[in-house]
Amino acid sequence: MTLDGIRTLLRDGGRIDRDQARWLWQHATDAELRELAGMVRRRYHADDACTYLIMRIINYTNVCVAQCDYCAFYRLPGQEGGYVMQQEEVFAKLDELLALGGDLAGFNGGFNPHLPLEYYCDLFRNIRERYAERLEFYALTIAEFMYLADHAKLSFAQAAERFKAAGVRWITGGGSEILTEEFRRRHSKFKYTVAQYFEAQRALVAAGLKTTATMVIGFDETLEERLEHLERTRGFQDETGGLASFLCWTFKPYFTPLGGQLGNIEISTGEYLRHLALSRIYLDNVRHIRTSVLTQNERALEGLAYGADDFDLPIEDEVTQKAGATINLQFDRILDVARGLGFQPQYRHVARAAVGS
Ligand code: SF4
Repeated sequence: MTLDGIRTLLRDGGRIDRDQARWLWQHATDAELRELAGMVRRRYHADDACTYLIMRIINYTNVCVAQCDYCAFYRLPGQEGGYVMQQEEVFAKLDELLALGGDLAGFNGGFNPHLPLEYYCDLFRNIRERYAERLEFYALTIAEFMYLADHAKLSFAQAAERFKAAGVRWITGGGSEILTEEFRRRHSKFKYTVAQYFEAQRALVAAGLKTTATMVIGFDETLEERLEHLERTRGFQDETGGLASFLCWTFKPYFTPLGGQLGNIEISTGEYLRHLALSRIYLDNVRHIRTSVLTQNERALEGLAYGADDFDLPIEDEVTQKAGATINLQFDRILDVARGLGFQPQYRHVARAAVGS
């Protein structure tokens, strides 16, 4: 296996296999990974093109029974500090988002056994009625969607139809972390198997809902587990074509049980950028690769040179903030960093165009 061989393969529009991905991770320099990621990025985007949007995550409840050991956000039912947001509180957050120039909200909470399906359907229906096309929202992660469907004793297909009828268009691929059965046994054994995850995502795509792929690195996952996650994601996209984008971010360890065990060490931005490049090369069938400002701050913009083409400017995400992420509302400064690296960021209006994320 040689770098020249892989370069030729990519130049001819080919795709790398798992052995080649492993070899690149172990042997390619940063500059070589950037170059190869740029070759695949160029299949979809001009060299200086990138998009962004301003968004917020609304953490509507922190009550959760999943007990993932990498989470600093949840409270068990009945535990002090647990909360559920009422609709007026959600609307106030959406109004603030619009005032700050944003137009995308993502809903992410916990597996709350006290919230019936009607809580969600009423909320999403009222948001759609109140804000119409002024904003778009991601209704939950797939993991929450699965819990809700099970809790309501509905199939994934039936739950997807209920959500669609309530005005939902998007459910993100969140809750995937690392998609290997072994990783889930180690860290989130109440959070569904990999097979169930894709079964739910397949049902969403079949119902005509839009969805995305996500990945979180920096736990104790092995290289093989990262490669397996990428391979499963690429396979799902080959099968369905339903993934609008791929977003990878890094584990924030602070105040989490797992973080304590691992010494609260975060992986370096350099490692994150290399993984972003490998993802861009491997996921040749996913149009948009997104870099994570939420977990990498301004250095996330370097990801644009490692194959990414899109990023969010978040104004809130309690889940990652609780575990150590910080929010920077100086959007102009962040955009200037992108411009300084030679990119021309354009605002991507999900609400108006609904072109994907
Ligand atoms: S990561 Fe999500 S599912 Fe897991 S414990 Fe935290 S809130 Fe619950």
